[in-house]
Amino acid sequence: MLDAADSRVSIYQPEQPGLVFPEIPQFASYEEERTYRKQHLVAAVRAFALHGFDYGFAGHLTVRDPERPELYWTNPMCVHFSQVRMSNLVLADHAGNVVEGTHAINRAGFVLHSAVHEAHPDIIAMCHAHTTYGTAWCATGRPLDMISQDAACFYDDHVVIGASAGAVAVERESGHSVASYFTRARAALHQNHGLLTASRHSIDDAAFWFIALERCCQVQLLVEASGVKPQMVSEKSAEYSRKHVGNDFIGWLHFQTLYNQIAAQQPDMFE
Ligand SMILES: [Zn+2]
Repeated sequence: MLDAADSRVSIYQPEQPGLVFPEIPQFASYEEERTYRKQHLVAAVRAFALHGFDYGFAGHLTVRDPERPELYWTNPMCVHFSQVRMSNLVLADHAGNVVEGTHAINRAGFVLHSAVHEAHPDIIAMCHAHTTYGTAWCATGRPLDMISQDAACFYDDHVVIGASAGAVAVERESGHSVASYFTRARAALHQNHGLLTASRHSIDDAAFWFIALERCCQVQLLVEASGVKPQMVSEKSAEYSRKHVGNDFIGWLHFQTLYNQIAAQQPDMFE
């Protein structure tokens, strides 16, 4: 959940007053918080477009409604990530009914996301897309090796899901199976399928760590392709990195860089 901005939760927050630095907003109403979540969901979807994460209609991002947490906002089906905007977002319930909006939603997305959201009321946001490097690495059925500080952000915090590997996740049992892995981990490599991230903090956090996870898969594939045996980050260092630069506030903070760029360059996202 978004906390008050007055408590210093990260070493990255400046102690010197008066400097420009992103702050988690506080909201006077559900309406304000809803608008914020929707804007950041749109920016997350557009960030996925900028990273080339689109693949036809595949890929879905969700964030809970702050007032009605049993409902979630998601991107419309068959609308390119780059064309998602405030006015075409869809509000859906756990049963897949569209409560607000004119577009259909992706059934596979609904099954996976609603099962995770339903099983874990504290999970606020989720991301999934069929990315090149994520899909490639997920074919190995292996977790990430701790070969960089960036990979260490996922130390002991990501899982490989072998269940229903490679089968399109349109059945509810498949969704429930995937949901069982999100008890603690916030990222999953779904074997023969692709990447999933979940956040108990914000859509910003889920989106940034999805981008980071895809990049970790790319880096690991590059290292393996080189044939050079990589040096591993020690467990102690990996744990330290995850704690300080791999937490949900840092995910949110990283994403503000993308949010500000997209909001400035793509003002139609607010339409
Ligand atoms: Zn998928």
